[in-house]
Amino acid sequence: MSHRVAVMALVAIAASVLPGSAPASSGPPDAHVRDAVERVLDRREQAVGSDDEPGWRATVAEPAAAQVAVFESLRRLNVRRWSERLTTIDPGPAGSWRAAVEVRYRLPGDREDSVVDAVVDLTPRLLVAGVTATPTPPWEIPGVQSVAGRHSLVVGADPADRLRTYAAELDRAVTSVAELLAEPPPRVVLIVPPDWDHAARMIGSGARAGLAAVTGPLEPPGTAPGPVRVLADPAVISGLDPGSRFALFGHEAFHVATHELVAAPRWLSEGLAEYAGYRESGVDLTRATAGLRRQVHRDGVPDVLPDDAAFDDPVRATIAYEGAHVLVRLLVAQHGSGDIVAAFRTLGAERSPGLEAVLTDVLGTDLATVTRGWQTEVTALARR
Ligand SMILES: [Zn+2]
Repeated sequence: MSHRVAVMALVAIAASVLPGSAPASSGPPDAHVRDAVERVLDRREQAVGSDDEPGWRATVAEPAAAQVAVFESLRRLNVRRWSERLTTIDPGPAGSWRAAVEVRYRLPGDREDSVVDAVVDLTPRLLVAGVTATPTPPWEIPGVQSVAGRHSLVVGADPADRLRTYAAELDRAVTSVAELLAEPPPRVVLIVPPDWDHAARMIGSGARAGLAAVTGPLEPPGTAPGPVRVLADPAVISGLDPGSRFALFGHEAFHVATHELVAAPRWLSEGLAEYAGYRESGVDLTRATAGLRRQVHRDGVPDVLPDDAAFDDPVRATIAYEGAHVLVRLLVAQHGSGDIVAAFRTLGAERSPGLEAVLTDVLGTDLATVTRGWQTEVTALARR
């Protein structure tokens, strides 16, 4: 009985958005048009939630093949929670309509919504002719699919066996990071777009060239951040040997697990991320710091620890990351990983007491001693 009622309700909604039910857009949209567009958007949400392809197609203008592809991508991604909320609607040319909507969605396993702004173009009969979303959502990766690991979800258009390999490697890296942090494994969603340009379009804050991966929410700055994602350059990660890829995945998994601890100096956050990644990667320190050793041979030992800006400077980034890695390894050897993680948590929190205070109180040392020890270590490493 309840099934029959549900079916009738759906039919009623479908009838109300049948072509021809809306007036032509000669003036400002009235409440009737707004209501009708909202019913179209509701119908699309229901179609995604119940895997109802005919229901979705009933909202799409012919021949909007891209819209049919969206439904297929959402299905392959196993997305069930997906909605479009109307914010504004304006008349377009020749009786068409242009709606601004907020798209909310969850990938499998997400506990909070991701949000994307989109413009939906509708025909005079209120069928969806096209959608432009910003930033680019995952379902616009051509041929996208998802593979779930134990602690991971890998989204991309690479062959399924490669995505499965990444998920397995990511699971091991996540477990290693969780052990270091002495906390439950973070869930890591890795997105592998077709290329880095595509990755940059998926991140609201953009992504500069030359990165292997970037970790953060995809929402633009100034809007509420959604779940944290890892976006990777497919050419870089497929070209790495498994040990180096484990190190990269561990590095990003560390950032996912600690993304709220933003106030620490970057030599500590990036150094710990490097340490977390390389610790069980099987890649030895000599190989992991090849760039630093080359630079020290050429330019000598740096006077100071890398400043925050060095990590974003293409010229200084190698020495910054590898130098920070060496520093954190040294600190862990001297104080144990538990104390270094504790110092990072204290420094990264919003009300940080400041670097000198934490070095003194948590580690019983000071910046001058730490810097001298690091210079000695870097000198020894460069001689190898
Ligand atoms: Zn990093």
